[in-house]
Amino acid sequence: MDCVFCKIANGEIPSNKAYEDDKVLAFYDLDPQAPVHILIIPKEHIQSVEEITPQNSAVVARIFEVAAKLAKEKNLTDGFRVVSNVGKDGGQSVPHLHFHLLGGRSMKWPPG
Ligand code: IMP
Repeated sequence: MDCVFCKIANGEIPSNKAYEDDKVLAFYDLDPQAPVHILIIPKEHIQSVEEITPQNSAVVARIFEVAAKLAKEKNLTDGFRVVSNVGKDGGQSVPHLHFHLLGGRSMKWPPG
């Protein structure tokens, strides 16, 4: 499958890794939108939040455990944001489920 995040997950494309285990990879975003901007992905190809099912959702819990661990490691003690864009209106540019961990500055609401 021609998926850039599958290629990052299997090492075909290099990434700057922040965390890795058998199911999950976290790596630094190429175009950071905050002092800390890490993408957390399942290694298995899931297209987006829309494709989460009872059969594949365990990895989502693991992803949030990784988000909490990384936020602690990065000392994001004043808070942070975890967000997943879905589809065209959601602003998703890579069709492989990913959660942005953003921190190190004050976030705005509502997002653009
Ligand atoms: P989306 O727009 O929510 O789908 O987020 C995709 C993110 O992936 C963007 O923030 C991009 O900067 C980032 N991105 C795309 N390709 C790469 C890459 O090869 N390495 C790291 N980040 C990437």
